[in-house]
Amino acid sequence: MTYSHSFPESLNKIFIDSSALETNFRILQQQVGQDIRVMAMVKADAYGHGMIQAAHSFSRAGCTRFAVTEIQEGIELRQTGIVGQIFVLLGFQYAEAQLFFDYDLTPVIFDYQSLDGLSQVAVNNNQKIAVHLKVDCGMGRLGFMPAELPTLMARLDDFPGITLAGIMSHFPLADAPNPLPTLEMYQRFQTACATSNQQDLVLCHIANSGAALYCPETCGDMVRLGISLYGYYPDGAIGKDRNRGEQLIPAMSFTTQVIQVKSVPPGTGISYGHTFVTDKETRIAVLPVGYADGFLRALSNKAQVLIKGQRARILGRVCMNLCMADITDIPGVESGDEVVILGSQGLETITADEIAEWMGTISYEVLCLFGNNNERHSIKSEEKNIERK
Ligand SMILES: *Cc1c(COP(=O)(O)O)cnc(C)c1O
Repeated sequence: MTYSHSFPESLNKIFIDSSALETNFRILQQQVGQDIRVMAMVKADAYGHGMIQAAHSFSRAGCTRFAVTEIQEGIELRQTGIVGQIFVLLGFQYAEAQLFFDYDLTPVIFDYQSLDGLSQVAVNNNQKIAVHLKVDCGMGRLGFMPAELPTLMARLDDFPGITLAGIMSHFPLADAPNPLPTLEMYQRFQTACATSNQQDLVLCHIANSGAALYCPETCGDMVRLGISLYGYYPDGAIGKDRNRGEQLIPAMSFTTQVIQVKSVPPGTGISYGHTFVTDKETRIAVLPVGYADGFLRALSNKAQVLIKGQRARILGRVCMNLCMADITDIPGVESGDEVVILGSQGLETITADEIAEWMGTISYEVLCLFGNNNERHSIKSEEKNIERK
């Protein structure tokens, strides 16, 4: 069976502003300095922004380094024409090691088995492969322990297919108000880097957004930026004030539509469990958004949305695909009206930081949930502005 019409769009739409992504890259590259490399973290489908589109936006702004978690994402980036270095952060299955060579991907290594496996494939290919070593300098997560490094460095000749191109680590507290733990960790990292006898050939990188923004002395040879490229600060709304540079621009917005408007009398229970009961005649707008769309149940009776440029509270439980907003004080709302869940409408703005507070989480999780559970559309704010004129 074939259908002649084009596939209908969802009522729920994520808009990704590619000019915001480009601008954020330029702002951040300038802020860390032109001599420090910037790697764009496009893991988790670019924090919900769409890996391919986001990588191409950063690329247009001059980015030549990208990081993903798994090898197949790296292949996808290559197949859509991304040039430059692509890091694979979380290892690989040995049977797939050849793919690093086929697609020119850079593995991050955190155990001897993968060093050995990769080296053998490289030798069979008559090639060498450049790798970055992951060291755990205080994150308590992935990586060799610093104490293992002297032995590892001494044993590198046992892996003739391997070239050591970088040493990396990761900060757990870089956006905290107190920089001291981060600076201490940075010292530990520098000591770890010094175990290499080829330091001028080895790229040392540890800084994430928090470190790049608030502890610039830890930027090393390269910074690996995620949340800041998407327009948010790792420490939430307070980051705006702490940042000394130009303000970053959030790239994601999320809109839906009113699907029903109605008035209910006092004493009406709203949604599952009747966790909200009206105390007066109340007008509600029913919205086709729920926890299946990343608008988590934790937002029940907490979140607000924008309708006609005004804030409307969510009443009662958020359902799987529906929720209700109080529009008693917003006249003229009709079925089909645009509702902004994340972003601006009129003079009001709801940020991912604000939603994160209602959800009890951080903007990172809000962006992943919204972006990766809804239909994404790419826009360019510059063009939109021209259209409005
Ligand atoms: C995700 C990630 C980053 C980026 O962190 P942000 O806080 O989003 O800037 C940097 N390094 C590693 C290893 C990561 O996994």
